Amino acid sequence: MIELINISKTFAVKNKFTKALDQVTLAIPKGQIFGVIGSSGAGKSTLIRCVNLLEKPDEGQILIHGVDLMKLSNQDLIQHRRKIGMIFQHFNLLSSRTVYQNIAFPLELTGTSKNDIQLKVMELLALVGLEDKAHDYPASLSGGQKQRVAIARALASDPEILLCDEATSALDPATTKSILQLLKAINKKLNLTILLITHEMEVIKIICDQVAVIDGGKLIETGTVEQIFTSP
Ligand code: ADP
Ligand code: ADP
Repeated sequence: MIELINISKTFAVKNKFTKALDQVTLAIPKGQIFGVIGSSGAGKSTLIRCVNLLEKPDEGQILIHGVDLMKLSNQDLIQHRRKIGMIFQHFNLLSSRTVYQNIAFPLELTGTSKNDIQLKVMELLALVGLEDKAHDYPASLSGGQKQRVAIARALASDPEILLCDEATSALDPATTKSILQLLKAINKKLNLTILLITHEMEVIKIICDQVAVIDGGKLIETGTVEQIFTSP
């Protein structure tokens, strides 16, 4: 369970203040696929970045399984972040490393043995359907394949939560569908909680259990996809 309680965040650039999040409260049950939709500048990125404290709210609480993230020591926060994977619009792969090395990277950082890394990377390559690409470099892959690598890398540390920041926005509609299907399959198989942000209604309709609508930093509506998208 992820709980955001009354979080607010204001950015100040010189004398200009932007309230990116305004008293946002949200509860995401374990194992759900939860979508946050809104237009550009609505506060989606700021919201999702708060869940792993890449962005620190000015006010409010962020609880994960009841643990208040802002009360953790730096050491505990590092441990905690390992339970949260993240994928991005532009994949953020390391271009000088192969697919295998990209997926192995987070495991190398935690000092995992070579043998265990190999077992894990092979398992993840199979999960995302890229066994034959292990030794290719990101530049030779399609957008959909790059996102599959990023998903595998995000899952390497066995996270409980996957954050998806506009993860399909750089992909064509057919590739978007296949990535969303993969995320759904992983959600089921691993009981992974998925929080995604998007500006695309289709993404929400295809994959999400629940959705929140954000505008001007405020949550406007929260409910099931049917509740939000079916007019009375
Ligand atoms: P979205 O992801 O929905 O496009 P963001 O969360 O990126 O929205 O941004 C919300 C608002 O906060 C926007 O007005 C944006 O310009 C502003 N903002 C976001 N990050 C920063 C920052 N680091 N410094 C200043 N303003 C920011
Ligand atoms: P996206 O819309 O894909 O989330 P952005 O281009 O809005 O990405 O933001 C990229 C980075 O710049 C983020 O780290 C965000 O916090 C920061 N940022 C966004 N808006 C502003 C802004 N107005 N001033 C300074 N930094 C910003």
